[in-house]
Amino acid sequence: MKRIYLDYAATTPTHPEVVKAMLPYFSEIFGNPSSIYSLGQEARGAIEEARVKVANLIGARDEEIVFTSGGTEADNFALKGVAFANEARGNHIITTPIEHPAVMETSKFLERRGFNITYLPVDGYGLVDPDDVKKAIIPETVLISVMHANNEIGTVEPIAEIGKIAKEAGVYFHTDAVQAAGHIPLNVAELGVDLLSISAHKLYGPKGVGALYIRKGTKLVSFMHGGEQERRRRASTQNVAGIVGFGVAVALTLPEMDEEAERLIFLRDHLIKGIFDGIDHVRLNGHPTKRLPNNVNVSVDFVEGESMLLNLDLEGICASTGSACSSSVLEPSHVLLALGLSPEQAHGSLRLTLGKWTTKEEVERVVEVLPRVVAKLRAMSPLLKSGR
Ligand SMILES: *Cc1c(COP(=O)(O)O)cnc(C)c1O
Repeated sequence: MKRIYLDYAATTPTHPEVVKAMLPYFSEIFGNPSSIYSLGQEARGAIEEARVKVANLIGARDEEIVFTSGGTEADNFALKGVAFANEARGNHIITTPIEHPAVMETSKFLERRGFNITYLPVDGYGLVDPDDVKKAIIPETVLISVMHANNEIGTVEPIAEIGKIAKEAGVYFHTDAVQAAGHIPLNVAELGVDLLSISAHKLYGPKGVGALYIRKGTKLVSFMHGGEQERRRRASTQNVAGIVGFGVAVALTLPEMDEEAERLIFLRDHLIKGIFDGIDHVRLNGHPTKRLPNNVNVSVDFVEGESMLLNLDLEGICASTGSACSSSVLEPSHVLLALGLSPEQAHGSLRLTLGKWTTKEEVERVVEVLPRVVAKLRAMSPLLKSGR
């Protein structure tokens, strides 16, 4: 049976070209990028080339990019870095209840350390209202963190509008753009952000590498102390091969982004329509149009998300319920609850995320298999009371 991978939001396969570009940096060019002999300088050169590529993806200057161990570290760095560096100015941070755990748990940590966190309301689609951001700002506010696109429901937030408000108020603005990167155009000037997180493995690069954009002049403290790597902002010998792979992945993604987005939107909408035609009592989670090109998230009444996943897996289909990080626990998704879904509806959610190697045939197979799976589960469902 051919496997159908529809969990690109959890991670993507590493592009074969990326793997090829990385290989020499494990063997021939293994030097430490901080060493001054040519073997080290060659590795250093490769890092700097990758830095230019990553900067290009978001319209930044290369010296504003700090490589990290992933999106999680970039988020931790942004929040803790700004919070601890600006404590004398204030201790208030504004964020949303639908952030990725990398931001959410960092906010909770800061809250336990005495910071005051405001969680903005979101509407039924998961959208933040920029007016609510404006109203939440107080003299003590030092940071606003609102994700660009949500990893579970795909909703794309009005980042540029929030950026204007943050700028007017003189408050630092961070966005987690891990899911947006590679799918929608990103420009730090247009978005008005001071900090932006990205991760390589969500855009066909390797796992364990990411970057934080830090606008020149932004006051933040490092929390990796040691050597002088990354302009003294992040100690530790760089993951040279990973960074090279990240750069190549970005360079491959950028030129074909618009065309690929169009292709994915077509497949996404075909999949949504197929699900609605084949299954009753189903709702689309997230915004119908202000949505990532590759994200489908539905709640199917009277079934458990976990049961759908297991049955789809038997058919060779990889999907997700809630986020990958929490799908091993039976807590309903905090994102879906924040949209106002009941715990039952949140438990019955299914996320299908598409990518570079998704075909129309694969989408059609899901449209054929899923209604069958749902019908089978409903036939034995204790959640289904009577009459159906
Ligand atoms: C995957 C993801 C992260 C974490 O990135 P890692 O590189 O896996 O640490 C952070 N934020 C969002 C929105 C993500 O989707």
